[in-house]
Amino acid sequence: MQSYDVVVVGCGPVGAVLAARLTRAGLDVLVVERATEVHPLPRAVAADDEVQELLERVAPGVLEGAVLDVPVRFLGARGQQVGSLRFPPGVAGRPGLALFHQPTVEARLRTLGLGEVRLGVAVVGLAQDAMGVGLQLDDGTDVRASWVVGCDGAHSVVRRATGIGWAGRDLQRWLVVDVTGAVAADGFTYRCDPVRPSVDMPLPGGHRWEWLLADGEAGFDPRPLLPDGVEVVRCVEYRYGARRASTWRRGRVLLAGDAAHTMPPFAGQGLGAGVRDAWALGALLPAGRVHEYEPLRRPHVAGMTRLSLFLGAVLETRSASAAAVRDALLSQAFRSSWLRRGGPRNSRSGVLEL
Ligand SMILES: Cc1cc2nc3c(=O)[nH]c(=O)nc-3n(C[C@H](O)[C@H](O)[C@H](O)COP(=O)(O)OP(=O)(O)OC[C@H]3O[C@@H](n4cnc5c(N)ncnc54)[C@H](O)[C@@H]3O)c2cc1C
Repeated sequence: MQSYDVVVVGCGPVGAVLAARLTRAGLDVLVVERATEVHPLPRAVAADDEVQELLERVAPGVLEGAVLDVPVRFLGARGQQVGSLRFPPGVAGRPGLALFHQPTVEARLRTLGLGEVRLGVAVVGLAQDAMGVGLQLDDGTDVRASWVVGCDGAHSVVRRATGIGWAGRDLQRWLVVDVTGAVAADGFTYRCDPVRPSVDMPLPGGHRWEWLLADGEAGFDPRPLLPDGVEVVRCVEYRYGARRASTWRRGRVLLAGDAAHTMPPFAGQGLGAGVRDAWALGALLPAGRVHEYEPLRRPHVAGMTRLSLFLGAVLETRSASAAAVRDALLSQAFRSSWLRRGGPRNSRSGVLEL
């Protein structure tokens, strides 16, 4: 049976960043990825300055072509602008906000040295003993590793096979539509319309809209709402959730990214949280400091999850009277220079120094 220092399960953005870091630290790494190709539909679009810095340290140029530094605007119940902010540049000098194309970023990460990569192979089970972990793969082979890291997304097989709990809740359903083509855009806009809350933002070469679906409402055809001349590249309904694993480590099995935590996308921090996990683990594991991983990362993830839920509550207000009060409070809040300077985006997570 082949044996490795680390088996990374899943080669999404989090698995790729982790595998690159571990390989560079001299560890013998196997990456097992169920799909044969990068997931073709964009999910994440936004990266803050710290996430940009980490991605660029792993793969210089990985964010080339991103839309940088657009203003973030909040429109109230009547379409009036209640506030606008620009996230300031970060400590490492990166722009406060970058809007990228996730499949392009993932494809670029896959060109890095990631150790041995087996594509089109899924992990179907695992068992650990004092010395390491044995994994069963769906091609009929078994492998062994000193450590296994589940970077296999929200439905993580690694998490379930290890018996780690998964607590949290389902949230609202949203219709997410991406187009290619020229779209006039004033920035990243939260449209807090109680009749149909929505968010839209420019993407490299196109644009995204997200519309809240009412309880029980079937998805709708968004085409009449789109500008002429664009091409729809995806129209997908998502039910967002906020969940967390009860522990991120059991013995020699660890979790990172969506396998460890999910949050709604309103603060643009799900992928970012996973990249920070991977960056941290990529330094702590080779240094024999795995015990520092969860205490370092969990509080920051909890904070970003609270911010995402708060933004969702602001955006998803469906009562006209509550929306009027919200708009008044929001415009008061935007009078504070702290908020206008991007106050809520305190992205420093303590991992840049690792
Ligand atoms: C509509 C939407 C918008 C979003 N916007 C943002 C945003 O703006 N900013 C942001 O930071 N985040 C955003 N996110 C969240 C972000 O997309 C995720 O947090 C991120 O993709 C998680 O990366 P991951 O590598 O942990 O998991 P995934 O991307 O899910 O990758 C998991 C990988 O594991 C593989 N796998 C699964 N099971 C197995 C198995 N048994 N064996 C082998 N391989 C397996 C899968 O094939 C996959 O390649 C958004 C999400 C959605 C849905």
